[in-house]
Amino acid sequence: MARQILFNATGGPEVLEVADVTPRDPGPGEIRVANRAVGLNFIDIYVRTGLYPANPPSGLGTEGAGVVEAVGDGVDDFAEGDRVAYAQAPLGSYADFTVMPVDKAIALPAAIDFETAAAGMLKGLTVQYLIRQTYAIGEDDTILFHAAAGGVGSIACQWAHALGAHVIGTVSNEDKASTAHRNGAWMTIDYTRESVPERVRELTDGAMVPVVYDSVGKDTWADSLACLAKRGLMVSFGNASGPVEGVNLAELNKGGSLFVTRPSLNGYADTRERFEMMCDDLFAVIESGDVKIRIGQRFGLEQAADAHRALANRETTGSTILTL
Ligand code: NDP
Repeated sequence: MARQILFNATGGPEVLEVADVTPRDPGPGEIRVANRAVGLNFIDIYVRTGLYPANPPSGLGTEGAGVVEAVGDGVDDFAEGDRVAYAQAPLGSYADFTVMPVDKAIALPAAIDFETAAAGMLKGLTVQYLIRQTYAIGEDDTILFHAAAGGVGSIACQWAHALGAHVIGTVSNEDKASTAHRNGAWMTIDYTRESVPERVRELTDGAMVPVVYDSVGKDTWADSLACLAKRGLMVSFGNASGPVEGVNLAELNKGGSLFVTRPSLNGYADTRERFEMMCDDLFAVIESGDVKIRIGQRFGLEQAADAHRALANRETTGSTILTL
């Protein structure tokens, strides 16, 4: 028997239950991973609440790292005992094990430990596509990144800094401002008490920014558009405060021929080739030390509901993992 977190209906953190289950054998093209650490992501909250499609009864979580313990027919690339990490498994990684298609797993370099991988795969691959593909930030770019002290934000601040960019990061309190600065943010704005567009205007001498990375959604949408330079790009990649709805395209014209994109990891890591390229890029910055995956919180698997409460209540910084 093994433990797995299941939910029978969408709802608050209390719907998450610990179940004893018998892991199934991997089918053709699948592997079973004995998890050593599991990643927690804000996306898991969207799934639990039903904002993103969920079909309960269901498992939760798509990220983790561990050791291959069984392989299905036709699997040649991995064998029992191999160390692997993954970010796009079928829902259910909040568990002692994960059964998943082999093409979503990547061999974990010896220099990267399981906790780092579980804390950094999904968030790190997200940052990879955001700052290297969606808008390839360059030296001396000044960019605005919301929720800069969070999991994705902490990686983005470090990686963008390593690329020579000036990151203006938004945060909700002084401690989070210190965290963002430690991670390489050039300036921070407390968006709970300061006007973000006014501060961006001051900090850029009126030039505004060529790109805004916004995962907060509803609460920040209008201000984010107001921070963009003419023909700037709004990257709306999350909904921590609620989804953006009822967009008026005329606002893009008024802001100066602005661009908007609503990207996702699955839209970028959509082929084995692209997934491997993105992993190579991520592992290289982790191994060089340019990006340190900072684990701010660890919860036991059975405390997954508490972990969700902490993340939703804005009490976390950096990445959160479930330990086994
Ligand atoms: P974080 O650790 O960044 O936690 C979310 C943060 O959002 C909070 O800590 C908080 O920071 C901020 N926030 C602002 N308003 C709210 C609110 N009303 N309620 C809760 N939090 C709020 O989470 P992750 O690193 O896991 O994910 C960051 C974002 O990136 C999420 O929105 C997620 O959905 C998105 N994402 C998108 C992906 C994609 O491919 N599209 C992939 C991965 C993540 P503060 O207190 O400083 O405001």
